[in-house]
Amino acid sequence: MSRAEFERRFPDEAACARYLAEKRWPEGFVCPSCDGCKGWELQSKPFTWECASCARQTSVTAGTVMHRSKLDLKTWFTAIHLEASHSNGISALQLQAQLGLGSYETAWSLLHKIRRAMVDPGRSLLQDLVEVDDAAIVYRTQHDPIDGRQGRSPAGKLLIVGAVELSPDEERRPRRIRLQPIADVSGEVLHRFVDQVVQPGATVITDGLHSYGRMPNHERERHVIGRVKAHLVLPWVHRVFSNLKRWLMGTFHGARKAHFKRYLDEFTFRWNRRRHLKSAFDTLLRLAVRLPHASTRDFIEQRV
Ligand SMILES: [Zn+2]
Repeated sequence: MSRAEFERRFPDEAACARYLAEKRWPEGFVCPSCDGCKGWELQSKPFTWECASCARQTSVTAGTVMHRSKLDLKTWFTAIHLEASHSNGISALQLQAQLGLGSYETAWSLLHKIRRAMVDPGRSLLQDLVEVDDAAIVYRTQHDPIDGRQGRSPAGKLLIVGAVELSPDEERRPRRIRLQPIADVSGEVLHRFVDQVVQPGATVITDGLHSYGRMPNHERERHVIGRVKAHLVLPWVHRVFSNLKRWLMGTFHGARKAHFKRYLDEFTFRWNRRRHLKSAFDTLLRLAVRLPHASTRDFIEQRV
């Protein structure tokens, strides 16, 4: 959807509110308090319905990611549109400029709230064939030079584990991915990841270097090889890692330790929708509407 189409579809607050109301109450207003189906939209309060039975007032944004936000709906919708329509995403600085927001912090927290909506809670497990490997991503702090990648201590690296689902035919085409920050590459950590993201019975392809050991729930295709050739045996997970590094550098000038998981979620969202970018806006909006309001607590740095 182009910016012009977006403006036609969502010209003002009322259009955005109507969209939210349709998504929340496709069959008409339902009171979240008493399940009453009779109610009316208040004239005195914008986008708020009052229940005919219990008189409770419900804002159309209640129970969505936009709840209690000081920003108007149009700003939210525009930010979601910008995030979804730039194939690489945007930085907080770019968003601030595009929306004319007063502060960098507002743009930053808006982007993080949108990123939260990038994981579909109902997504299914990876199936058939799944490449699994880990990688270390160098992160930078506020004061590091942008491109100081050489000679870092291990403390400056973020460990991640990734999985790529492949088609079960001879071509082994990549389908969906999952990425997760991890504390270490112990068997316990890797097993937990595989159990969380891979369907029981699927075949897991690994390079045989790590302590995956026996995986009771999954078949295993193991390749005992040196690190040098890992990209030949696990071509897709390695391509995902290198795309991820390039994306972090290109869009954000390098990985940051804080909120790293959200950046992985954003990358995963983009990769998994790389062939149907057109629907990314609607997907993101649908998830954002279903996602509960986030408090500041949700944004305090997550430790792995
Ligand atoms: Zn009610």
